[in-house]
Amino acid sequence: MNADRNDYGVLEKLVMIPGVPGRESLVADFIRSSLSSICDCRIDNLGNLIVHVGGKGKRVMFVAHMDEVGFIVQRILPAGFLKVERMGGTSLRALPGSQLSLWASKGCLPALAGVLPQHLDSNEPISDFSKIFIDVGTSSKEETRVLGVKPGDVLTWNSPLKFLGDSLICGKALDDRVGCYCLMQLAQMIKPEELACDLYLVFSVQEESMLMGSIAAINSIGPEVIVGVDGTFAFDTPDLEGRQSDIRLGAGPAVKWMDAIRGKLAAFVPNYTLTNLICETAQKTNIPLQDEISIGMSTAVTSVIYAQNGARACAISIPIRYHHTPIETADLHDVENTIALLHNLLVSKL
Ligand SMILES: [Zn+2]
Repeated sequence: MNADRNDYGVLEKLVMIPGVPGRESLVADFIRSSLSSICDCRIDNLGNLIVHVGGKGKRVMFVAHMDEVGFIVQRILPAGFLKVERMGGTSLRALPGSQLSLWASKGCLPALAGVLPQHLDSNEPISDFSKIFIDVGTSSKEETRVLGVKPGDVLTWNSPLKFLGDSLICGKALDDRVGCYCLMQLAQMIKPEELACDLYLVFSVQEESMLMGSIAAINSIGPEVIVGVDGTFAFDTPDLEGRQSDIRLGAGPAVKWMDAIRGKLAAFVPNYTLTNLICETAQKTNIPLQDEISIGMSTAVTSVIYAQNGARACAISIPIRYHHTPIETADLHDVENTIALLHNLLVSKL
C-alpha cells in the first residue's frame, strides 16, 4: 500500500480538532456535518453524538470515543508561564520539549512545554509533574492574561498527521479518532436495507477521563449488542517486544478477549459468543485478526456493565504505537481491515 494522502483528508482533519474530555463539541460538529445528509444525527445532553443508520432487527450500537488526552491550565505563574494538569492519562515522558496548541478565549495559541537544556540535565527520570511548565512566549502574568489565557483553558498536542513509510500514519489523537474515522466510513458505505439489525453509531465523550461517557448513549438507545472500536497497544517496538502480546502494526485489527487496569477492579470481559463471531467472520472473509488481552487499559465499552438493562458487548481494536503521546502511530492496512471487518459483521448475524 502506498498511502495516498488525498484519501485520508477526513482523518487528517479529524485528528487536528481539539477534543479533550468534556470539550468534544467541535469533533461532534465535524462528524455530524459529514453524516447528517445520510443519517439521522443527534447529540445527547452529555455530548455524545448518536447517528442512527437504520435497518431492521435488534438494536446494535458501535461506539468509538471522540475525546483525546490533553492538559488543562491550572494557574498562571508571575513570569507568565503556565502550570497545567493532565486530562486523561497523557504521557508525561513525551511532554517536555513538545509543541502544544493552547485553546484560549481569543483563539488558538502556540505553546511549548519547557525542557532542561541537556548541558544542565542530571538525567533524572521524569516523575515529578510539579517541574512541568508551559511557555506561551510572555514575560508576566498580565501579558499572558492579555492573550486571553485563563485557568480552565485546555491544551492539546500540536502534531498534525504525518505519513510514514508505505502505510503508517502518525500524529496526535489517533486514539480514538481512528475509531471515529472507521465508523464514519462505515456510515458512508452501508445501505440500511442490507442490514440485519437496527444500527446506531455512537461517537462518545469522556472516555479518557472516566470511561463512562457512553453510558448515557447506551441508556437512551437500549442496544442488545455493543461493539467497541478503539486503539490498543502494539508490542512491535524494541522496548516492548515480548511484553503481554505479539500485537503489531499491519497484522490486522485485534479481537479483544479481556482488558484490565491492574488493581482497579475494572476488567472488561467481552461476550464470548460475539467474540467468537468476530473470529469466524474474519476467517471467512480473509481479514487478518490478532488476539488482544491488554493489561493497563480500559475503554468505553467497560462502562457497558453500568447500562440500565445490560448488553452483550465485544470490541475490535486497532493497534497503535506510542499511546497518549503526540506521535501515536497506526497502519492504514489495519484501519482498512477494521472497516471491512465491521462491515462484514453487520451483514452477518450479530
Ligand atoms: Zn481510546
